[in-house]
Amino acid sequence: MPEIFDIAIIGGGITGASVAHSLHGRRSVVLLEQEDSLGYHATGRSAAEFTRRFHSGVVGRLTQASTDFLMRPPEGFAQVDLLRPRGNLLIADADKADHLKMVYDHERANTPKGAPPVEMLSIEQAQEKMPFLDPNWIKAVFYDPDCWDVEVENLLQGYIRQARANGAETRQSAAVTSARREGDHWILETTSGELRAQTVVNAAGGWADPVAAMFGAAPLGIVPHRRTAISVKVPDYDVSMMPEVNEIDELFYFKPDAGQMMVSPADETPVEPHDAWPEELDIAYAAHYLSECTTLEVTHVAHSWAGLRTFASDRLPVIGFSGQVAGLFWLAGVGGYGIQTSPAVGQIAAALLTGVDMPANVTAAGVEPELFAPSRVES
Ligand SMILES: Cc1cc2nc3c(=O)[nH]c(=O)nc-3n(C[C@H](O)[C@H](O)[C@H](O)COP(=O)(O)OP(=O)(O)OC[C@H]3O[C@@H](n4cnc5c(N)ncnc54)[C@H](O)[C@@H]3O)c2cc1C
Repeated sequence: MPEIFDIAIIGGGITGASVAHSLHGRRSVVLLEQEDSLGYHATGRSAAEFTRRFHSGVVGRLTQASTDFLMRPPEGFAQVDLLRPRGNLLIADADKADHLKMVYDHERANTPKGAPPVEMLSIEQAQEKMPFLDPNWIKAVFYDPDCWDVEVENLLQGYIRQARANGAETRQSAAVTSARREGDHWILETTSGELRAQTVVNAAGGWADPVAAMFGAAPLGIVPHRRTAISVKVPDYDVSMMPEVNEIDELFYFKPDAGQMMVSPADETPVEPHDAWPEELDIAYAAHYLSECTTLEVTHVAHSWAGLRTFASDRLPVIGFSGQVAGLFWLAGVGGYGIQTSPAVGQIAAALLTGVDMPANVTAAGVEPELFAPSRVES
Protein backbone atom coordinates (compact mmCIF):
# COMPACT_ATOMS: atom_id res chain seq x y z
CA MET A 1 0.00 0.00 0.00
CA PRO A 2 1.62 3.32 -1.04
CA GLU A 3 2.00 6.10 1.52
CA ILE A 4 -0.85 8.62 1.67
CA PHE A 5 -0.43 12.40 1.88
CA ASP A 6 -2.98 15.20 1.80
CA ILE A 7 -0.82 17.18 -0.61
CA ALA A 8 2.02 16.19 -2.95
CA ILE A 9 3.97 19.17 -4.32
CA ILE A 10 5.78 18.50 -7.60
CA GLY A 11 8.83 20.77 -7.85
CA GLY A 12 11.52 21.65 -5.34
CA GLY A 13 12.24 25.20 -6.49
CA ILE A 14 11.37 28.36 -4.56
CA THR A 15 7.67 28.11 -5.53
CA GLY A 16 7.14 24.56 -4.27
CA ALA A 17 9.20 25.31 -1.16
CA SER A 18 7.24 28.48 -0.36
CA VAL A 19 3.87 26.75 -0.42
CA ALA A 20 5.23 23.80 1.61
CA HIS A 21 6.29 26.38 4.21
CA SER A 22 3.05 28.38 4.08
CA LEU A 23 0.90 25.30 4.75
CA HIS A 24 2.33 25.39 8.32
CA GLY A 25 1.59 21.72 9.03
CA ARG A 26 -2.16 22.13 8.41
CA ARG A 27 -1.97 19.22 5.92
CA SER A 28 0.36 16.24 5.51
CA VAL A 29 2.75 17.21 2.73
CA VAL A 30 5.39 15.60 0.54
CA LEU A 31 7.53 17.70 -1.81
CA LEU A 32 8.99 15.84 -4.79
CA GLU A 33 12.01 17.07 -6.76
CA GLN A 34 13.35 15.22 -9.79
CA GLU A 35 16.93 16.48 -9.34
CA ASP A 36 19.23 15.42 -6.53
CA SER A 37 19.27 18.94 -5.11
CA LEU A 38 16.53 21.49 -4.42
CA GLY A 39 16.62 24.75 -6.37
CA TYR A 40 18.71 23.20 -9.16
CA HIS A 41 16.84 24.88 -12.05
CA ALA A 42 15.52 28.50 -12.26
CA THR A 43 15.77 29.08 -8.51
CA GLY A 44 19.50 28.41 -8.39
CA ARG A 45 20.27 30.55 -11.46
CA SER A 46 18.55 33.86 -10.77
CA ALA A 47 20.02 37.35 -10.52
CA ALA A 48 18.79 37.41 -6.90
CA GLU A 49 17.32 40.90 -7.18
CA PHE A 50 14.48 42.40 -5.17
CA THR A 51 12.89 45.64 -6.29
CA ARG A 52 9.42 47.08 -5.90
CA ARG A 53 9.81 49.14 -9.08
CA PHE A 54 9.64 48.41 -12.82
CA HIS A 55 7.01 45.64 -12.59
CA SER A 56 3.43 45.49 -13.77
CA GLY A 57 0.92 46.73 -11.18
CA VAL A 58 -0.07 43.21 -10.14
CA VAL A 59 3.51 41.98 -9.75
CA GLY A 60 4.36 45.18 -7.86
CA ARG A 61 1.53 44.41 -5.41
CA LEU A 62 2.69 40.78 -5.00
CA THR A 63 6.16 42.12 -4.27
CA GLN A 64 4.78 44.64 -1.78
CA ALA A 65 2.90 41.82 -0.03
CA SER A 66 6.18 39.87 0.21
CA THR A 67 8.34 42.75 1.46
CA ASP A 68 7.72 42.44 5.17
CA PHE A 69 8.52 38.71 5.19
CA LEU A 70 11.79 39.25 3.34
CA MET A 71 12.82 42.26 5.43
CA ARG A 72 11.73 40.80 8.77
CA PRO A 73 11.46 37.01 8.43
CA PRO A 74 9.97 34.99 11.28
CA GLU A 75 12.19 34.25 14.28
CA GLY A 76 14.64 31.45 13.46
CA PHE A 77 13.85 31.42 9.71
CA ALA A 78 17.36 32.40 8.58
CA GLN A 79 20.72 33.11 10.17
CA VAL A 80 21.41 36.04 7.82
CA ASP A 81 19.47 39.01 6.47
CA LEU A 82 17.46 37.80 3.47
CA LEU A 83 17.77 41.20 1.78
CA ARG A 84 20.99 43.19 1.50
CA PRO A 85 21.05 46.75 0.11
CA ARG A 86 22.48 46.99 -3.40
CA GLY A 87 21.00 50.03 -5.19
CA ASN A 88 20.48 50.28 -8.91
CA LEU A 89 21.72 52.71 -11.55
CA LEU A 90 19.36 53.06 -14.50
CA ILE A 91 21.35 54.21 -17.52
CA ALA A 92 20.64 55.42 -21.04
CA ASP A 93 22.70 56.30 -24.09
CA ALA A 94 22.10 59.47 -26.15
CA ASP A 95 19.18 57.91 -28.06
CA LYS A 96 17.29 57.06 -24.89
CA ALA A 97 18.23 59.96 -22.60
CA ASP A 98 14.82 61.66 -22.99
CA HIS A 99 13.05 58.37 -22.47
CA LEU A 100 15.01 57.82 -19.24
CA LYS A 101 13.84 61.19 -17.95
CA MET A 102 10.22 60.19 -18.60
CA VAL A 103 10.72 56.91 -16.75
CA TYR A 104 12.32 58.85 -13.89
CA ASP A 105 9.36 61.26 -13.66
CA HIS A 106 6.94 58.33 -13.64
CA GLU A 107 8.87 56.44 -10.94
CA ARG A 108 9.30 59.57 -8.84
CA ALA A 109 5.54 60.21 -8.97
CA ASN A 110 4.72 56.58 -8.17
CA THR A 111 7.12 55.79 -5.34
CA PRO A 112 6.07 52.46 -3.79
CA LYS A 113 4.94 52.58 -0.17
CA GLY A 114 7.95 52.29 2.13
CA ALA A 115 10.51 52.76 -0.64
CA PRO A 116 12.84 55.78 -0.91
CA PRO A 117 12.35 57.88 -4.06
CA VAL A 118 14.57 57.56 -7.13
CA GLU A 119 17.28 60.23 -7.57
CA MET A 120 18.49 61.80 -10.81
CA LEU A 121 22.32 61.78 -10.94
CA SER A 122 24.93 63.50 -13.01
CA ILE A 123 27.29 61.19 -14.91
CA GLU A 124 30.04 62.18 -12.42
CA GLN A 125 27.84 61.19 -9.47
CA ALA A 126 27.15 57.85 -11.12
CA GLN A 127 30.89 57.36 -11.65
CA GLU A 128 31.43 57.90 -7.92
CA LYS A 129 29.36 54.77 -7.42
CA MET A 130 30.95 52.89 -10.33
CA PRO A 131 34.15 54.50 -11.65
CA PHE A 132 34.35 52.50 -14.89
CA LEU A 133 31.05 53.74 -16.35
CA ASP A 134 31.86 55.28 -19.73
CA PRO A 135 30.67 58.89 -20.13
CA ASN A 136 31.03 58.53 -23.90
CA TRP A 137 28.12 56.07 -23.82
CA ILE A 138 26.04 57.03 -20.77
CA LYS A 139 24.17 60.28 -21.29
CA ALA A 140 21.52 60.04 -18.55
CA VAL A 141 21.25 58.13 -15.29
CA PHE A 142 19.10 57.87 -12.20
CA TYR A 143 19.52 55.88 -9.01
CA ASP A 144 17.01 53.54 -7.38
CA PRO A 145 18.02 53.04 -3.74
CA ASP A 146 15.29 50.42 -3.29
CA CYS A 147 17.12 47.56 -4.97
CA TRP A 148 18.31 44.65 -2.84
CA ASP A 149 20.19 41.38 -3.19
CA VAL A 150 18.16 38.38 -2.06
CA GLU A 151 19.91 35.58 -0.18
CA VAL A 152 18.18 33.00 -2.37
CA GLU A 153 19.75 29.85 -0.92
CA ASN A 154 18.97 30.97 2.64
CA LEU A 155 15.41 31.80 1.64
CA LEU A 156 14.94 28.40 -0.02
CA GLN A 157 16.50 26.51 2.88
CA GLY A 158 14.46 28.55 5.38
CA TYR A 159 11.22 27.52 3.67
CA ILE A 160 12.32 23.88 3.57
CA ARG A 161 13.61 23.77 7.15
CA GLN A 162 10.38 25.22 8.54
CA ALA A 163 8.21 22.99 6.35
CA ARG A 164 10.10 19.93 7.62
CA ALA A 165 9.77 21.17 11.21
CA ASN A 166 6.00 21.25 10.59
CA GLY A 167 6.03 17.64 9.37
CA ALA A 168 6.51 17.99 5.60
CA GLU A 169 8.65 15.38 3.86
CA THR A 170 10.98 16.34 1.01
CA ARG A 171 12.27 13.84 -1.53
CA GLN A 172 15.03 14.55 -4.00
CA SER A 173 15.83 12.37 -7.05
CA ALA A 174 12.08 11.75 -7.09
CA ALA A 175 10.80 12.56 -10.58
CA VAL A 176 7.07 12.08 -11.00
CA THR A 177 6.79 9.91 -14.09
CA SER A 178 3.06 9.09 -14.23
CA ALA A 179 -0.20 9.56 -12.36
CA ARG A 180 -3.50 7.72 -12.16
CA ARG A 181 -6.73 8.48 -10.37
CA GLU A 182 -8.09 5.99 -7.84
CA GLY A 183 -11.21 7.06 -5.93
CA ASP A 184 -10.58 10.53 -4.59
CA HIS A 185 -6.78 10.14 -4.68
CA TRP A 186 -3.97 10.40 -7.15
CA ILE A 187 -1.42 7.59 -7.27
CA LEU A 188 1.93 9.02 -8.31
CA GLU A 189 4.72 6.91 -9.77
CA THR A 190 8.05 8.47 -8.99
CA THR A 191 11.64 7.40 -9.57
CA SER A 192 11.85 6.84 -5.81
CA GLY A 193 8.64 4.84 -5.45
CA GLU A 194 4.87 5.13 -5.51
CA LEU A 195 2.78 7.35 -3.28
CA ARG A 196 -0.79 8.54 -2.93
CA ALA A 197 -2.07 12.09 -2.50
CA GLN A 198 -5.46 13.73 -2.34
CA THR A 199 -4.26 16.92 -3.98
CA VAL A 200 -1.29 17.46 -6.27
CA VAL A 201 0.35 20.90 -6.53
CA ASN A 202 2.00 21.46 -9.89
CA ALA A 203 4.98 23.69 -9.00
CA ALA A 204 7.17 22.26 -11.75
CA GLY A 205 8.40 25.60 -13.16
CA GLY A 206 9.28 25.24 -16.85
CA TRP A 207 7.79 21.72 -16.81
CA ALA A 208 4.32 22.81 -15.56
CA ASP A 209 2.47 22.00 -18.80
CA PRO A 210 4.04 18.54 -19.39
CA VAL A 211 3.57 17.64 -15.72
CA ALA A 212 -0.13 18.61 -15.96
CA ALA A 213 -0.47 16.40 -19.03
CA MET A 214 0.34 13.37 -16.83
CA PHE A 215 -2.88 14.17 -14.96
CA GLY A 216 -4.91 14.57 -18.16
CA ALA A 217 -5.00 18.39 -18.03
CA ALA A 218 -4.69 20.43 -21.23
CA PRO A 219 -1.61 22.69 -21.43
CA LEU A 220 -2.14 26.30 -20.31
CA GLY A 221 0.54 27.71 -22.58
CA ILE A 222 3.02 28.20 -19.75
CA VAL A 223 6.25 28.67 -21.68
CA PRO A 224 9.83 28.59 -20.37
CA HIS A 225 12.10 31.35 -21.71
CA ARG A 226 15.87 31.06 -21.55
CA ARG A 227 17.86 33.85 -19.88
CA THR A 228 21.66 33.95 -19.97
CA ALA A 229 24.23 35.29 -17.54
CA ILE A 230 28.00 35.51 -17.59
CA SER A 231 30.48 36.30 -14.86
CA VAL A 232 33.61 38.35 -15.57
CA LYS A 233 36.53 39.43 -13.43
CA VAL A 234 37.00 43.18 -12.96
CA PRO A 235 40.70 43.61 -12.20
CA ASP A 236 41.81 46.65 -10.18
CA TYR A 237 38.38 47.28 -8.66
CA ASP A 238 36.59 46.02 -5.58
CA VAL A 239 33.09 45.71 -7.03
CA SER A 240 31.44 44.22 -3.96
CA MET A 241 29.74 47.43 -2.77
CA MET A 242 28.92 48.79 -6.23
CA PRO A 243 25.30 49.04 -7.37
CA GLU A 244 23.51 46.99 -9.99
CA VAL A 245 23.23 48.68 -13.40
CA ASN A 246 20.24 48.35 -15.71
CA GLU A 247 19.87 49.72 -19.20
CA ILE A 248 16.68 51.77 -19.03
CA ASP A 249 14.65 49.29 -21.11
CA GLU A 250 16.42 46.26 -19.62
CA LEU A 251 18.32 45.62 -22.81
CA PHE A 252 21.01 44.33 -20.43
CA TYR A 253 21.97 44.50 -16.78
CA PHE A 254 24.98 43.77 -14.61
CA LYS A 255 25.65 43.50 -10.91
CA PRO A 256 28.38 42.44 -8.52
CA ASP A 257 28.24 38.75 -7.72
CA ALA A 258 30.78 36.97 -5.52
CA GLY A 259 33.55 39.50 -6.26
CA GLN A 260 32.99 39.43 -10.02
CA MET A 261 30.50 41.13 -12.31
CA MET A 262 27.47 39.15 -13.44
CA VAL A 263 26.15 40.40 -16.79
CA SER A 264 22.94 39.40 -18.55
CA PRO A 265 21.88 40.37 -22.07
CA ALA A 266 18.30 40.06 -20.76
CA ASP A 267 17.52 37.50 -23.44
CA GLU A 268 14.13 35.86 -23.42
CA THR A 269 14.07 32.96 -25.86
CA PRO A 270 11.09 30.56 -25.73
CA VAL A 271 12.37 26.99 -25.35
CA GLU A 272 11.22 23.51 -24.41
CA PRO A 273 11.74 22.71 -20.71
CA HIS A 274 15.28 21.41 -20.25
CA ASP A 275 18.45 21.84 -18.21
CA ALA A 276 19.21 25.23 -19.77
CA TRP A 277 22.66 26.19 -21.00
CA PRO A 278 23.85 29.43 -22.62
CA GLU A 279 24.20 29.94 -26.35
CA GLU A 280 27.49 31.45 -27.63
CA LEU A 281 25.69 34.40 -29.22
CA ASP A 282 24.02 35.42 -25.94
CA ILE A 283 27.35 35.13 -24.11
CA ALA A 284 28.88 37.41 -26.75
CA TYR A 285 26.04 39.93 -26.38
CA ALA A 286 26.53 40.04 -22.62
CA ALA A 287 30.25 40.74 -23.02
CA HIS A 288 29.55 43.32 -25.73
CA TYR A 289 27.04 45.28 -23.64
CA LEU A 290 29.42 45.48 -20.67
CA SER A 291 32.29 46.66 -22.90
CA GLU A 292 30.04 49.21 -24.58
CA CYS A 293 28.86 51.19 -21.54
CA THR A 294 31.99 50.87 -19.41
CA THR A 295 35.70 51.36 -19.90
CA LEU A 296 36.26 47.68 -19.06
CA GLU A 297 37.70 45.34 -21.65
CA VAL A 298 36.10 41.92 -21.48
CA THR A 299 38.79 39.51 -22.59
CA HIS A 300 37.71 36.45 -20.64
CA VAL A 301 34.36 35.08 -19.46
CA ALA A 302 34.98 33.32 -16.14
CA HIS A 303 31.66 31.50 -16.06
CA SER A 304 28.37 31.42 -17.96
CA TRP A 305 24.98 29.89 -17.33
CA ALA A 306 21.33 30.07 -18.32
CA GLY A 307 18.04 29.43 -16.62
CA LEU A 308 14.35 29.26 -17.45
CA ARG A 309 11.92 32.09 -16.69
CA THR A 310 8.47 30.69 -17.22
CA PHE A 311 5.44 32.75 -18.22
CA ALA A 312 1.74 32.32 -18.97
CA SER A 313 0.53 34.38 -21.94
CA ASP A 314 -0.53 37.33 -19.72
CA ARG A 315 2.67 37.16 -17.64
CA LEU A 316 0.79 36.62 -14.38
CA PRO A 317 1.26 33.61 -12.12
CA VAL A 318 -1.21 30.75 -12.36
CA ILE A 319 -2.41 29.86 -8.85
CA GLY A 320 -5.49 27.76 -8.19
CA PHE A 321 -7.34 24.48 -8.66
CA SER A 322 -7.68 23.17 -12.18
CA GLY A 323 -11.17 23.62 -13.58
CA GLN A 324 -10.64 20.48 -15.67
CA VAL A 325 -9.02 17.86 -13.45
CA ALA A 326 -10.03 16.99 -9.88
CA GLY A 327 -7.32 17.27 -7.24
CA LEU A 328 -4.86 19.19 -9.44
CA PHE A 329 -3.67 22.63 -8.28
CA TRP A 330 -1.59 24.91 -10.53
CA LEU A 331 1.25 26.96 -9.05
CA ALA A 332 3.36 28.12 -11.96
CA GLY A 333 4.28 30.97 -14.32
CA VAL A 334 6.16 33.11 -11.80
CA GLY A 335 8.38 34.39 -14.59
CA GLY A 336 11.27 36.69 -13.75
CA TYR A 337 10.03 37.60 -10.26
CA GLY A 338 9.50 34.22 -8.59
CA ILE A 339 12.11 34.72 -5.88
CA GLN A 340 10.99 38.14 -4.69
CA THR A 341 7.27 37.30 -4.76
CA SER A 342 7.61 33.81 -3.24
CA PRO A 343 6.38 34.76 0.26
CA ALA A 344 3.04 36.06 -1.06
CA VAL A 345 2.72 33.42 -3.80
CA GLY A 346 3.19 30.64 -1.24
CA GLN A 347 0.68 32.24 1.14
CA ILE A 348 -1.96 32.68 -1.57
CA ALA A 349 -1.56 29.07 -2.69
CA ALA A 350 -1.75 27.76 0.88
CA ALA A 351 -4.91 29.78 1.59
CA LEU A 352 -6.61 28.47 -1.57
CA LEU A 353 -5.52 24.88 -0.82
CA THR A 354 -6.87 24.93 2.72
CA GLY A 355 -9.87 27.23 2.22
CA VAL A 356 -8.81 29.82 4.79
CA ASP A 357 -8.97 33.62 4.38
CA MET A 358 -6.20 35.38 2.50
CA PRO A 359 -3.52 36.67 4.89
CA ALA A 360 -3.79 40.34 5.86
CA ASN A 361 -0.55 41.31 4.09
CA VAL A 362 -1.93 40.01 0.78
CA THR A 363 -5.22 41.90 1.01
CA ALA A 364 -3.53 45.04 2.41
CA ALA A 365 -1.25 45.16 -0.63
CA GLY A 366 -4.33 45.10 -2.90
CA VAL A 367 -3.54 41.69 -4.42
CA GLU A 368 -6.60 40.08 -6.02
CA PRO A 369 -5.93 36.32 -6.10
CA GLU A 370 -8.81 35.80 -8.61
CA LEU A 371 -6.49 37.31 -11.24
CA PHE A 372 -4.30 34.20 -10.97
CA ALA A 373 -7.11 31.65 -11.55
CA PRO A 374 -6.15 28.95 -14.09
CA SER A 375 -9.61 29.36 -15.67
CA ARG A 376 -8.40 32.57 -17.37
CA VAL A 377 -6.00 30.53 -19.53
CA GLU A 378 -7.84 27.17 -19.62
CA SER A 379 -9.44 26.43 -22.96
C1 LIG B 1 18.90 34.39 -15.24
C2 LIG B 1 17.69 34.56 -14.35
C3 LIG B 1 17.58 35.69 -13.56
C4 LIG B 1 16.50 35.82 -12.68
N1 LIG B 1 16.48 36.88 -11.83
C5 LIG B 1 15.50 36.97 -10.89
C6 LIG B 1 15.54 38.01 -9.92
O1 LIG B 1 16.47 38.81 -9.90
N2 LIG B 1 14.54 38.07 -9.00
C7 LIG B 1 13.50 37.16 -8.99
O2 LIG B 1 12.61 37.29 -8.14
N3 LIG B 1 13.45 36.17 -9.91
C8 LIG B 1 14.42 36.05 -10.84
N4 LIG B 1 14.39 35.05 -11.76
C9 LIG B 1 13.22 34.18 -11.81
C10 LIG B 1 13.23 33.13 -10.73
O3 LIG B 1 14.48 32.46 -10.74
C11 LIG B 1 12.08 32.15 -11.01
O4 LIG B 1 10.86 32.86 -11.12
C12 LIG B 1 11.89 31.12 -9.89
O5 LIG B 1 13.13 30.55 -9.53
C13 LIG B 1 10.94 30.02 -10.35
O6 LIG B 1 10.88 29.07 -9.31
P1 LIG B 1 10.08 27.73 -9.54
O7 LIG B 1 10.13 26.99 -8.25
O8 LIG B 1 8.73 28.05 -10.10
O9 LIG B 1 10.87 26.97 -10.69
P2 LIG B 1 12.19 26.06 -10.59
O10 LIG B 1 13.19 26.64 -9.68
O11 LIG B 1 12.63 25.75 -11.97
O12 LIG B 1 11.64 24.75 -9.89
C14 LIG B 1 10.79 23.83 -10.54
C15 LIG B 1 11.27 22.45 -10.16
O13 LIG B 1 10.36 21.45 -10.63
C16 LIG B 1 11.12 20.28 -10.83
N5 LIG B 1 10.36 19.33 -11.64
C17 LIG B 1 9.95 19.48 -12.93
N6 LIG B 1 9.31 18.37 -13.35
C18 LIG B 1 9.31 17.50 -12.31
C19 LIG B 1 8.81 16.18 -12.14
N7 LIG B 1 8.17 15.51 -13.13
N8 LIG B 1 8.98 15.56 -10.93
C20 LIG B 1 9.64 16.21 -9.90
N9 LIG B 1 10.15 17.46 -10.04
C21 LIG B 1 9.97 18.10 -11.22
C22 LIG B 1 12.37 20.81 -11.54
O14 LIG B 1 13.44 19.91 -11.46
C23 LIG B 1 12.61 22.11 -10.80
O15 LIG B 1 13.60 21.97 -9.78
C24 LIG B 1 15.46 34.85 -12.65
C25 LIG B 1 15.57 33.73 -13.46
C26 LIG B 1 16.67 33.56 -14.29
C27 LIG B 1 16.77 32.31 -15.12
